[in-house]
Amino acid sequence: MPIEAIDTLVVGGGQAGVAMSEHLGKCGIPHLVLERHRIAERWRSERWDSLVTNGPAWHDRFPGMEFPGAHPDDFIAKEKVADYFVAYAEKIAAPIRCGVEVQKVRRLAGRPGFHVETSQGTIEAKNIVVATGAFHHPVSPDLVPQQAGVLQIHSNAYRNPAQLPDGAVLVVGAGSSGGQIADELLRSGRRVYLSVGPHQRPPRAYRQRDYCWWLGVLGKWDLSAPTPGAQHVTISVSGANGGHTVEFRRYASRGMTLLGMTKSYKDGTLSFSADLAENLAQGDANYMSVLDEADAYAQRFGLDLPEEPQARIIDPDPPCVTDPILTLNLREAGVSSIIWATGYAFDYGWLEVGAFDESGKPLHQRGVSSEPGLYFLGLPWQSRRGSSFIWGVWHDARYLADQIAIQRSYQAYNEQAGRSAR
Ligand SMILES: Cc1cc2nc3c(=O)[nH]c(=O)nc-3n(C[C@H](O)[C@H](O)[C@H](O)COP(=O)(O)OP(=O)(O)OC[C@H]3O[C@@H](n4cnc5c(N)ncnc54)[C@H](O)[C@@H]3O)c2cc1C
Repeated sequence: MPIEAIDTLVVGGGQAGVAMSEHLGKCGIPHLVLERHRIAERWRSERWDSLVTNGPAWHDRFPGMEFPGAHPDDFIAKEKVADYFVAYAEKIAAPIRCGVEVQKVRRLAGRPGFHVETSQGTIEAKNIVVATGAFHHPVSPDLVPQQAGVLQIHSNAYRNPAQLPDGAVLVVGAGSSGGQIADELLRSGRRVYLSVGPHQRPPRAYRQRDYCWWLGVLGKWDLSAPTPGAQHVTISVSGANGGHTVEFRRYASRGMTLLGMTKSYKDGTLSFSADLAENLAQGDANYMSVLDEADAYAQRFGLDLPEEPQARIIDPDPPCVTDPILTLNLREAGVSSIIWATGYAFDYGWLEVGAFDESGKPLHQRGVSSEPGLYFLGLPWQSRRGSSFIWGVWHDARYLADQIAIQRSYQAYNEQAGRSAR
């Protein structure tokens, strides 16, 4: 069978793959995007039913298109986000082939480029852009044995409260996923325990501007590296039910029981660190720092935005914070399900090239891999804080297309110089 040849192959047809296709197209670079399922599949089938974007419609989008029929301040439902990327791909006539999985990639011997095995044949590509996202495999600590008698799922398998057996639910992890799922379960009438680790919790809005706007004008989305010590700190925000500031004490006042970090398990009982008050205090400090910087910015630039002193009032600590629960017997507490909202890991098993560090993370500079011709897109902090988000990936894609174009011009010169020398 003849081998298909393409200049640049993009693996993955999520938002990163669509953005990459737009910029490669603008640079006139022949390319093909392979997506194993459907465009923006993860927004359709790997998120819970009620998920909406964490940022408003004016912000969580590509520059080239608005969300049809949405108010700029709306938080967009996940299916509509997927529809948006399908429509965007159509608008730019992106060459996306769906239902094709890339199964193996290796470097060609003695010449530039890669040999690519897919579920539908073999391709040779001069360049590869890995746009398979930042959230490959759900990870959760191996603490509670399967025979403990509780349903255990990762947040990526959670869909809605009705999916869980009757009884109380323990949600482990209070980033945006864990916080939103715990809130939804509480609203559905469940008894909910939430294990809260270190987190950032910017205000949803302050002085009539959404936090996405504040972080933008304050240059926070463009930070090139996390503040030292804050590398693993999750951000807890919510666009659910019209959007609100995540304040865990308010969840507690509505009946949720807050716990510290989940530590260990023995004979039906989970143990928690005595760090809940400290974790909440760190979240408060982050929240206050955004208000402080916003006020300083408003003053410096004379912004006519109403002051909001009440935003600085922090609710008193509820009993679960002042008198923390350090152990929880699951049966006695009636816990029938545990949802592990504990994040994801990379899986590049199909990429047989030496472009990874010993922990399996890509070696790259702003997405340009240590392996010539190989590029990554959509990684957390790839070039900036916004890199793995909708608006950030578009800018990183533009940079990568530029880099590929530059390398192509070197190759073109080399070929031309070789011809004239003959
Ligand atoms: C719960 C949750 C909520 C989020 N909410 C927001 C939000 O509100 N706003 C925001 O800006 N960001 C949000 N994000 C972050 C980010 O925008 C999404 O994770 C987004 O899906 C990332 O897009 P991507 O294209 O980089 O990767 P993905 O969406 O993961 O797309 C990668 C694609 O590659 C395909 N693929 C993988 N391997 C192969 C292969 N070997 N061959 C072919 N195809 C392959 C997959 O099927 C997938 O479609 C959220 C993330 C999560 C987990």
